[in-house]
Amino acid sequence: MTESGPSIFSRIVAREIPATIVAETDDLIAIEDINPQADVHVLVIPKTETYANVSELAAGDPALLSRLVALAQSIADDRAGGQYRLIFNSGASAGQTVFHVHAHVLAGDLGEATLV
Ligand code: 5GP
Repeated sequence: MTESGPSIFSRIVAREIPATIVAETDDLIAIEDINPQADVHVLVIPKTETYANVSELAAGDPALLSRLVALAQSIADDRAGGQYRLIFNSGASAGQTVFHVHAHVLAGDLGEATLV
């Protein structure tokens, strides 16, 4: 929660905004990115918005980060033979637009997607 209210991802977790949900656990949700940059482009998101970026998540709850990576792997196992690119943008100048930590899972035909 910020001054502007819950993040877009918290609103998706709360089912206030629709999304295509790929997987869900007690503390993670995986959704199709609304603007896919690769054949497979899934966002894996902790349900809590306590952590703005991956460094905060790693420091605050490394076990949750580990579960996030395991879920990314299982999505890639299902959809791309287990191979994938995992991207965390950290900071606006690095391309981060949603300050609720999330991983981009890119896989399959990556096309021109070297960055997201
Ligand atoms: P960032 O730029 O913060 O690393 O990534 C944010 C990602 O969230 C972008 O790839 C963007 O397309 C995606 N995104 C933003 N709003 C929505 C939304 O409402 N639904 C979904 N499914 N993805 C979104």
